[in-house]
Amino acid sequence: MRAAFPEFRLGNVLATSFTGTLSERHGNAVERIPTPQRLMDWLTVNGLAVDSCTAAQLDLARELRESIHAAATAAAVQDALPASAVHVLNDCSAQGRAAAILTPQGKRQWRLGSASCVEDALSVIAADAISIIAGERDGKLALCASPTCRAAFFDTSQSRTRKWCDMNTCGNRQKKARFNANQRKNPSPAE
Ligand SMILES: [Zn+2]
Repeated sequence: MRAAFPEFRLGNVLATSFTGTLSERHGNAVERIPTPQRLMDWLTVNGLAVDSCTAAQLDLARELRESIHAAATAAAVQDALPASAVHVLNDCSAQGRAAAILTPQGKRQWRLGSASCVEDALSVIAADAISIIAGERDGKLALCASPTCRAAFFDTSQSRTRKWCDMNTCGNRQKKARFNANQRKNPSPAE
C-alpha cells in the first residue's frame, strides 16, 4: 500500500526538493524514498520518469542526495565545499545523458538518454544543484531555522529573508511552538 510511505515535499527547486526527500536530519529523520519504487515515484512527479530502479541505483541516488546536502550546506554558510561531495556531484553530472527539450507550448522538459536509466535522471538533479551552488541562479542558499531540520534551501524571496525550508512544515511547527510558549507565559483565566 503506497499510502504507508511518507509523502513527498514538493518545492520549486529540483535539487533542494531532492535533498528534502530526507527530512528532519537532526531530529527523527524521515526517509521519503525508502524503496526503489518510491524513488521512481519521486522522479515521475518531477518530470524525470524512469522505467526501473535497482537497489544499487537507489543507493547512488541517496549518495548524490547527501552530497548535494553537504555541498549546499557548506555553500550556505560560506564554508569550503567538501571535496568528496563535489566529487560525487561531478560524477553524477557527467555520467548521465539527458537533453533539454522545448515543448510546442514553450515549456522545458527533460528527455533522458534511456528510459531505464536512473543515472540520466540523477545527472539532471546534479546539474541543477551545481547551478545553485555555483551562484548562477537568482536566489540564495540558506539553512532552515528549525534545529531538527537545518535543511539547505534556495531562498528566492525578494528580501532573501526566508527562515524555513518549508512554510507548511518547519515554519508552521515553529509558529505553533511560539504560540504554545506564549500560552504558558500568559495562561488565560479559564486555565
Ligand atoms: Zn526545515
